[in-house]
Amino acid sequence: MFGGRLKPRIAVIGAGIAGLAACRELAGHGRVTVFEKSRGVGGRMSSRRVEPWQFDHGTQFFTARKPEFRALLAPLLDSGLVREWTGSVVYLEAAERPRKRLWFEPHYVACPGMNALCKTLATDLHVRTGIEVAPLGARGPDGWELLSSAGESLGHFDLVLSTAPSPQTLLLLENHLPIDAELRSVRYRACFALMVGFAEPWRATWIAGKARDNPIEWIAAQPTRPGREMPAALVAHASADWSDANVDRDLAQVQQELSAATGALTGLDMNRSTHMALHRWRYALVDAETAATEPFIDMSAGLAATGDWCAASRIEDAWLAGRHLAKALLAR
Ligand SMILES: Cc1cc2nc3c(=O)[nH]c(=O)nc-3n(C[C@H](O)[C@H](O)[C@H](O)COP(=O)(O)OP(=O)(O)OC[C@H]3O[C@@H](n4cnc5c(N)ncnc54)[C@H](O)[C@@H]3O)c2cc1C
Repeated sequence: MFGGRLKPRIAVIGAGIAGLAACRELAGHGRVTVFEKSRGVGGRMSSRRVEPWQFDHGTQFFTARKPEFRALLAPLLDSGLVREWTGSVVYLEAAERPRKRLWFEPHYVACPGMNALCKTLATDLHVRTGIEVAPLGARGPDGWELLSSAGESLGHFDLVLSTAPSPQTLLLLENHLPIDAELRSVRYRACFALMVGFAEPWRATWIAGKARDNPIEWIAAQPTRPGREMPAALVAHASADWSDANVDRDLAQVQQELSAATGALTGLDMNRSTHMALHRWRYALVDAETAATEPFIDMSAGLAATGDWCAASRIEDAWLAGRHLAKALLAR
């Protein structure tokens, strides 16, 4: 019993794939509310629409290796919400012809945008978007009172579960985490995403390219992704090393340098682009060597946390991490 209530009041912070996976498991066992600071769900699985283009500027694709994740995807593959992204993937070298690179397993995308998977997972859940949860204060007799960063009360909860990247979870739970909590030592790598749109159709034969020894590491041709109709458009990701080294630089200068590198790799005249924007992912991918081995759970305090930081920066692993934490909480 929770203060006379049969079901606990549960707050999940973050409507990325991990938070929504946890929430789906917990719904029915408690009164669950998800708080998300962005305008929509998806977290790093997001898409940006700028007519007539659409840019998947975070997660590029996902693979499915575990039976549970395949079971989640099966009906979505049948309905076309998830589709395989096929075509020629190449190595790009400045001033050289692209060389072919092989993918050894299916690579999937959600349609019409990457966030469609999270939108589906959010169906029937109580999700409040556009609300940034403030760092937790002291727990009172009626549980945790969550406040938004604007100072609004978001209600009282018996259990608070954070699925924000570990540096953001640290901010939220700082005063309530043990000094040796594993998540304190997790490190994230940054990633700059350059989005470029052209008026002409996409004519190259490749769908995506990898580059080495270059500020740019990955380029994806957006019109080649299933369920997307648009003129030529690219998402180019800077490498983790380059992004970390330049993370606090002037964004206009970063954009200029990444645009030049993208032009040199693809042979496209960037002056002909009619749209260009840059997104900085400060917490893009977990540095695998620093990843935690377990989620954070403190049942007596009513606090828990998980996310890709205690798994790997893969959609499948983040989904499994969210589910795993929810099942562990239910088992207790
Ligand atoms: C550029 C890039 C490329 C990637 N490419 C791939 C790929 O090709 N394949 C793949 O499998 N994975 C890829 N990943 C990794 C993958 O996107 C992540 O591992 C996964 O999305 C993590 O999910 P999550 O739910 O743990 O975290 P997130 O998606 O980050 O969700 C956490 C949520 O918490 C919210 N939040 C944080 N603080 C607060 C607060 N105080 N109040 C309210 N809400 C808050 C955030 O807004 C966010 O929506 C990529 C990531 C990036 C950035």
